[in-house]
Amino acid sequence: MDPVRHFAGTYVEARDKFFAVTKTLGMTVSRHIHPAARGAAGEELSLDVSVLGDASSAAMLMLVSGTHGVEGFCGSGCQVGLLHDAEFVAAARASGVAVVFVHALNPFGFSHLHRTNEDNVDMNRNFRDFAAPPPANTAYAEVHSFMVPATWPPSPENEGVPLPTMVVMMPLVAMRRTRCVS
Ligand SMILES: [Zn+2]
Repeated sequence: MDPVRHFAGTYVEARDKFFAVTKTLGMTVSRHIHPAARGAAGEELSLDVSVLGDASSAAMLMLVSGTHGVEGFCGSGCQVGLLHDAEFVAAARASGVAVVFVHALNPFGFSHLHRTNEDNVDMNRNFRDFAAPPPANTAYAEVHSFMVPATWPPSPENEGVPLPTMVVMMPLVAMRRTRCVS
């Protein structure tokens, strides 16, 4: 397998690769074309969704690319590469799990090489309603004091957090806060 061929140099090329492989696999693509914004080359922008396997399945794996626009080059390449992997496709279809491919959640940022969308919104940070109180995040609360020390430089107490605790906790916090694959 040559993974490089699944990656693209432009948003349009990435989308075309996604369209091509989904067509080969007989998957339909649900297109959501941006009503107003255009790409860097004046092209149409779209968020495209295609499902591998049984779309009515109660079990679903969602793979999203391009939440942070420009990161879509990596995410799209991974999506297209996965769909070219016959072993993965067969296993997914046999598993009963619907694998939902969301291609270019932020097509504007993808095409214009920005992290944010056409409204300068970071879709992975500003998806919630900031007028409402933030939801409780107990996992973060446990590690807040050593991530954001009350004093700087950190007090001996902060620096005294056992290393194994840090090593175990930090990835857990990161995982709970992470919402995109790219
Ligand atoms: Zn990201």
